[in-house]
Amino acid sequence: MTHVFLVGAGPGDPELLTLKAARLLRAAGVVLHDSLVDPRVIAIAGPAARLIDVGKRCGRHAASQAQICRLLVEEARGGHNVVRLKGGDPMVFGRASEEMDALRAHGIAFEVVPGITAATAAAAALNLSLTQRGVARSLHFLTGHGAQGGLPAHDFVSLTKSGGTLVVYMGGETLPGLAAHFIEAGMPPDMPAILIENASLPSRRSVAATIATLPRLHAAQAASGPVLILIGEALGDASEIAAVRSRITHEEEQNIVSVA
Ligand code: SAH
Repeated sequence: MTHVFLVGAGPGDPELLTLKAARLLRAAGVVLHDSLVDPRVIAIAGPAARLIDVGKRCGRHAASQAQICRLLVEEARGGHNVVRLKGGDPMVFGRASEEMDALRAHGIAFEVVPGITAATAAAAALNLSLTQRGVARSLHFLTGHGAQGGLPAHDFVSLTKSGGTLVVYMGGETLPGLAAHFIEAGMPPDMPAILIENASLPSRRSVAATIATLPRLHAAQAASGPVLILIGEALGDASEIAAVRSRITHEEEQNIVSVA
């Protein structure tokens, strides 16, 4: 019976791939992969595998989601051994529901293989626990990018009140707006915030700041890889944050807040 595997490729470092993902890749006839997937992970596929890049990065659409779904169904019907390889975990901001719906609609069986999501890769890279007893009792994964572009309509007040650790995916471009909304919602301007680019890869860079100062520092950083933003008291443990906090004067913060 035809079977499609929706496989998590992890955050980049090929060693963070699951054994199951590697086994399925080696056996794949066709691999449909995103552009964020590390070439070394794609290279695990056997020489006979057909590789199809359906990748899309913000603003540069290689294939629409509808086209990807159609392709998945076609390849599966063609009897090929199909692996749909997605960055991180397929079930976290991976549009897996559309693909599962399309497969279900055509009676094609599928299985999802989890991967390490960017949030946990970032936590590992920063030596930061995302939850902490008595400090951060919840963890929230947010998108920084609305379905129609721009900032999504999150409940910024509830998120701020939760006191949990906030992890923003796809938030590089909307960071100034995000920061302004959180501060307006009552978040203290000196709330620790860290941005990490290319978590798990040697090219990783991070900027430790506060919610008020991060947008300006990120703009200066000119990131070219995927970036993740982490916000919350749990991050106060990062040694970089302590240094940043003591450097920033109250006056500076006020200036930056009004710019944001
Ligand atoms: N399914 C993926 C997320 C896809 S959305 C996962 O579970 O990780 C794409 C966003 O993920 C990027 O905009 C960025 O915010 C984040 N991301 C993915 N890989 C990353 C990495 N190596 N470092 C930092 N952020 C990453």
